Amino acid sequence: MTEFKPPNSPDPGSHGSLTAPAALMHGSSVQPPDHPVPLHIPHRSRDVAAADWRGFPAPIPDRWAQVAASKGFRIDRRIRDRYHVALTCHSCGGQTASKVYTLMTAEPRCGACAERRIRDLAKAAGVAFLARDPEDHVYGWFRAPCGHDLRRQFELIERAAAGACGLRCETCHAAREAEEAEAQGWRLIGPDPSGDRNYRIYRHGCGQEQRIARANMQTGRLDCGGCGESWASKPSCIYLAQIDLPDSGLRVLKLGYSSNPEHRFRYQLGLPRATKVELLRLLPMPTGHAACAEERRANARLAKRYPDAVIPVDAYVGEINVVSEIYCPTLLPVLHKVLDGIEARMNRSGRKPSADPGSDAPDGGEDDEDDPDEGFGGGPASLSGNGTLPP
Ligand SMILES: [Zn+2]
Ligand SMILES: [Zn+2]
Ligand SMILES: [Zn+2]
Repeated sequence: MTEFKPPNSPDPGSHGSLTAPAALMHGSSVQPPDHPVPLHIPHRSRDVAAADWRGFPAPIPDRWAQVAASKGFRIDRRIRDRYHVALTCHSCGGQTASKVYTLMTAEPRCGACAERRIRDLAKAAGVAFLARDPEDHVYGWFRAPCGHDLRRQFELIERAAAGACGLRCETCHAAREAEEAEAQGWRLIGPDPSGDRNYRIYRHGCGQEQRIARANMQTGRLDCGGCGESWASKPSCIYLAQIDLPDSGLRVLKLGYSSNPEHRFRYQLGLPRATKVELLRLLPMPTGHAACAEERRANARLAKRYPDAVIPVDAYVGEINVVSEIYCPTLLPVLHKVLDGIEARMNRSGRKPSADPGSDAPDGGEDDEDDPDEGFGGGPASLSGNGTLPP
């Protein structure tokens, strides 16, 4: 449903976040037809069929063996044709195919050592190495912790491993941006035509398309030029929903906000048809801005205090179009307390939806992190030791 990649995500042509082709799941080695040890193949020869790397019956000249030894290898056997040998690496024991010419005139590389280095770098960068890209040897496929596969340059993985940059999953990021817009009753359409990375084009529920700063979409501070609906006056809702997912059989809780929760569940979350959704509680909020601020604060605190009750995204990927704020049912009493706290705060500040909708200052003090929050008083112990996921 997200046809648009956020402009500050990497160029999709070079950084696709798709699923790595299953046929590639073997790194850079092939299984020769007549030898038990996998053979690493230099990238220029990777289109040669595995069957062609069979032994070539001919003696190994002494001179070749001496040169190989001086370069850290032993010639295990001749392979493919009279121009190739299989080299065994002195340091790791792995085998790599090499042209005799390369062996004699240059420094052959051990494919096994190179691949181990990539695996180690990927691990340090927080991803798992899956495969080299067959189209372009400077690219590889990596599995991100969210479960999506990323195509990235090895050089970028190296920088990420060194902590010089991060590796963002653009699939998750695009889903998050689409979700932000939908919670405000808008739909993300595309990048800013004038190329400003902070802006996007969105379509309102009334049909109006408009250029809006993403930051304002996140906080709900935006006016629709089509229907005149303004962020300062538009009421919203924080909802607590129980969702029974038909495919995984999971029952989950979602705490979110929306100006129209029923519509959101019916049309926007991409739930399978057989999904049962029960809105357990609806808390009217004076504005989309207030709803957004309260919901964000609550979810951030919940994730911090009850990490075991946050259901990992790969448990429901493909079933709900969200990437966070999905909890295990044992958290229900805590979630009710959190909502009680928000409700009490709204009543105290006289900001009930009907009271004074215009009083929601753009940067109102409701983000005060030191404010004691009723719903969080108990800490993990109030979960009665049951805050873990069902198997
Ligand atoms: Zn090696
Ligand atoms: Zn992802
Ligand atoms: Zn509108």
